[in-house]
Order: sequence, then C-alpha cells, then structure tokens
Amino acid sequence: MAEVKIIPLLHDNYAYLLEGSGERAIIDPTLAQPVLDLLVGKKLDYIVNTHHHWDHTDGNLEIKAATDCKIVGFEEDAHRIPGIDICLKNNQKFDICGANFTVIFSPGHTSGQIALYFAKEKWLFCGDTLFSMGCGRLFEGTAQQMFDSLQRFSTLPDDTKIYCGHEYSKANGEFALTIEPDNVDLQERIRQVGLLREKNLPTIPTNIGLEKNTNPFLRVKNVEEFAQIRRKKDTYR
Ligand SMILES: [Zn+2]
Repeated sequence: MAEVKIIPLLHDNYAYLLEGSGERAIIDPTLAQPVLDLLVGKKLDYIVNTHHHWDHTDGNLEIKAATDCKIVGFEEDAHRIPGIDICLKNNQKFDICGANFTVIFSPGHTSGQIALYFAKEKWLFCGDTLFSMGCGRLFEGTAQQMFDSLQRFSTLPDDTKIYCGHEYSKANGEFALTIEPDNVDLQERIRQVGLLREKNLPTIPTNIGLEKNTNPFLRVKNVEEFAQIRRKKDTYR
C-alpha cells in the first residue's frame, strides 16, 4: 500500500513524497535541499510535476543529479519541465510506488496543467487547479477551461482526498465567506482550518465532498458565475 507524506516548502508550497513497493516518488519539488535531506540513505525513483511553474519544478535538476531519478510530466509541457524523461498523455495510466494514477489534463491555471488521479487509493494530486475553498489563478487558461477542469474533479467520489500545491486555505476561506456568508459548512471548515493553522499544521488533504459543500468555485451553476467570482478573487484586498 502506497503512502503519502506532505512536505511543506517555502512559505506555503506543498511537495509530496509517495512511498510503496520499494519505490519512492516526489511530486512537485519546489526546492532540492529539503527533499534531499528527507531522502538521505534512500533511493528516489521518480519526480512527477503537475505543471511547469518554478515553485513546482525548481528542485528537479539538483534532485535528479543526486538520485538519478526519472522526471515525469505532461507531454505538452516537455519543453518547459526541467530534465523531463517520461512524457505523459491525457488519460494515460502510470504505475508508481505500487499504485497507479490516471492523468487528468486540467488546464486553466496553466495550459499544460495535469492532475494525478489514484482511483484505488482515492487520491487526487491537482497542483494549482483546485485548492481548499479556492482555485488557481488563470495565468494561461480561460475561465471556461478552469470551470471544466473543476467540474471534472467534482465527478470524482466525494471521499477522494485532494492534495494541492499550496496552503491557501485560510485566505481562501475568508474570501469564500464573502460569497456565501450563511454557508454553515463553510463556517465550520474555516473554524477547523483556524485550529490547524494555529498549530502550524497542514489543512491538506481536503476532499471532494467537503469542497462541494464549501468551495464557491465548485458551487457555481455556470461558467459566467465562475468567471465573475474568479475576477472578484483576483482583486480581493
Ligand atoms: Zn502554479
């Protein structure tokens, strides 16, 4: 059985260590050194990048040089994922750490963003597409693309754990409350997030069911409503 370990990096980034069946993989290494410190005396088989942004790939080359791991990413981002060895296609299945994920192409934040969906384990590693109570900024994609990507995620089982790229829950919750001040589930989630952050603990993983009840970007009825809330968030404070 594969296991996930959360690796907080920089101010609010999350990388993840997967371990299972004698294999190890790192998802989205922001930096090399803290990851290498964690791996002392252990082998690393793969790095997987959800998208090309520096805060998800900057550790790639140094970690690869130190561990001889293979770097895995989306085929359309091959030109901008440092050190890529294995190019994934949309809907492709990939065996890793005794588990298997399906590539879900989910553009919006970037044009080559992917999510890794582990159907058996019910894990979704979605990079900067879906956050707890929020979603990624539209750097290279349209509102329609992000809306479609989020709607695709919402079809996954409610108990699917979401491992996203950043700890943004507190700020996202404050904004979400301006959209739905009377949402009791949202109020309770914000309270729980506050308790976790007081102890400097991650609020991740969240899950699909919780997000359907609390995330304004998943709760919109159509793309127009989505675009309106996304614009509001872009200029919030
Ligand atoms: Zn990003």
